[in-house]
Amino acid sequence: HHLKKYFPVTGGVFKRKMGEVKAVDDISFQVYKGETLGLVGESGCGKSTTGRVLLRLLEATEGEIIFENKHVSRLSSKELKELRKEMQLIFQDPLASLNPRHTVEKILEEPLLVHGVSSKEERKRLVQEMLSVVGLDEYHSKRYPHQFSGGQRQRVGIARALMTHPKLIIADEPVSALDVSIQSQVLNLLKELQRKFELTYIFIAHDLGVVRHISDRVGVMYLGRLVELTESSALYEEPLHPYTKSLLASVPIADPTARDEEEMVLAGEMPSPANPPKGCAFHTRCVECMDICKTERPAYVEIKPDHYVACHLYSDSTDHA
Ligand code: SF4
Ligand code: MG
Repeated sequence: HHLKKYFPVTGGVFKRKMGEVKAVDDISFQVYKGETLGLVGESGCGKSTTGRVLLRLLEATEGEIIFENKHVSRLSSKELKELRKEMQLIFQDPLASLNPRHTVEKILEEPLLVHGVSSKEERKRLVQEMLSVVGLDEYHSKRYPHQFSGGQRQRVGIARALMTHPKLIIADEPVSALDVSIQSQVLNLLKELQRKFELTYIFIAHDLGVVRHISDRVGVMYLGRLVELTESSALYEEPLHPYTKSLLASVPIADPTARDEEEMVLAGEMPSPANPPKGCAFHTRCVECMDICKTERPAYVEIKPDHYVACHLYSDSTDHA
């Protein structure tokens, strides 16, 4: 892969504390122009929080977010408004994120109004244009979100995110609430839009099956930290971190969407993020746990080119931060 480095979306480290809970604790990664970076982990691992911190919908406790050489964390609210044109969020549940009292036309017009498209005609034209891009039409523009199927609603959510022609889309479990047959339609649409508009995606999901075919690289999170991040082919074929391995073992290769919860081989519950285990946070569930794992937190290191892992099996470096 020769992905061109473009956004260092995050430079260094960022942390976010929610009360005493470190929902995202010291993670660091970059996103390349035009790629899809999958972010995967069980619920409560901090992946949604990470997405929101990147957009500054939540403020980071510390750390840097750099988007096209701009330090997102230092922007004024006016600059942030400008930046929001370029970074948009697609939600898991479009119904909850779309105003039920507004027609689709009004919903899609709103971002244009916020960003100063003053001509009504022009807004109408842009709304119709975007509806057709996502496979809807004028008929849909006069209707309300509850009159749509889940898949159509997600198309509206996608259209809304695209109204300002963003460069980066953070898609937070955009297909998790949809039927399997609809999931692949929406995933295909997202891929098509990526090509058409040269979009970069951060695609958040709770299992590795969903992001497999859409991601160029995948990062796996556990209790607020990245435990492994690398190119998709390496992650799926030669996973290194024991947590990644157990997540993969729960995804049947032939039909990743057909899994049901009983097939999970991952033992035990995820500990509470409010009280993460000492040392390696995964040690309470890890089949390869060693003594050092219970006391020393493994550092997140690049153990071969573009392959980052935080695990004592692969590195003797301890994170003293
Ligand atoms: Fe397992 Fe130890 Fe690696 Fe953590 S550091 S994943 S407990 S082997
Ligand atoms: Mg979430």
